[in-house]
Amino acid sequence: MTEKINVGGVEVWALLDMIPPPYTPDDFFPSIPLDWWEPYRKEVFDQDGNLQLYYGCFAIRSQGKLILVDTGMGPGPHPERGNRRGELTDRMREEGLPPEEVDYVVHTHLHGDHVGWNLDTHGKPTFPSARYLAPRADWEYFRQPEIAPTAPFVAESVVPLEPLGVMDLVEGEHSVTDEVATLPTPGHTPGHQTVMIASQGQQGLVTGDLVQSMVQVMRPDWGSRADVDSEQARETRLAMMERIQQENMLVAAGHFPTGAHFGRIVTSEGRRYWQIAKPGG
Ligand SMILES: [Zn+2]
Repeated sequence: MTEKINVGGVEVWALLDMIPPPYTPDDFFPSIPLDWWEPYRKEVFDQDGNLQLYYGCFAIRSQGKLILVDTGMGPGPHPERGNRRGELTDRMREEGLPPEEVDYVVHTHLHGDHVGWNLDTHGKPTFPSARYLAPRADWEYFRQPEIAPTAPFVAESVVPLEPLGVMDLVEGEHSVTDEVATLPTPGHTPGHQTVMIASQGQQGLVTGDLVQSMVQVMRPDWGSRADVDSEQARETRLAMMERIQQENMLVAAGHFPTGAHFGRIVTSEGRRYWQIAKPGG
């Protein structure tokens, strides 16, 4: 099923790489007592009371350029994810977006479920025509001697890009095209960035891991164990939720379920919720 929207003249496709095994809520959000979930369980729990994440990436077509935001978990099989396999490149071909045609890979951050397809099994770039744009602050953070052993995915899927000469480290607001730019949104990781789209008076945002579960639309003050700096992540989420609503942005959230990757954040009866965007625009 094609899941696609337009932001002005920009086309955005959701591309599912993998559905990982579910987490129990207290595992993924260890600081949130179980009974606090009660008002949200219908919207965010699966039938077993667990949190099902999705590993989604996005392709963006803007001004003739094809941009891939994040590269999922990678081909696998992944022993730490129930031996499941990633399918990003299959999904891309099905959508008529062959990996060979990608001009830019933009990494929202350098966690393992966002960099997995960078290289093929021969160590060559999976996206041979692409410049890979990685946030400089993440590159510096994850390569520190005391952090690097906790981030083998950076050693495997990011570090080899440097000698291949295909990576650009970016910081601040970096324009990819006239319509697409990165926006620093630190906290989840030090260099975490979202991707802003502005075209023909419309605004869009690819969240990266600004939010990982739909519960954070309703409770942006809740952080998961995946946030490197939980206080900074919380402040960033709160500020961005305000901005998303004020600017009526169309939002693309990779960890949200298939069929609900695109939405707007609306308030009704004093409560925020995720309103799934209709296909097209
Ligand atoms: Zn993630």
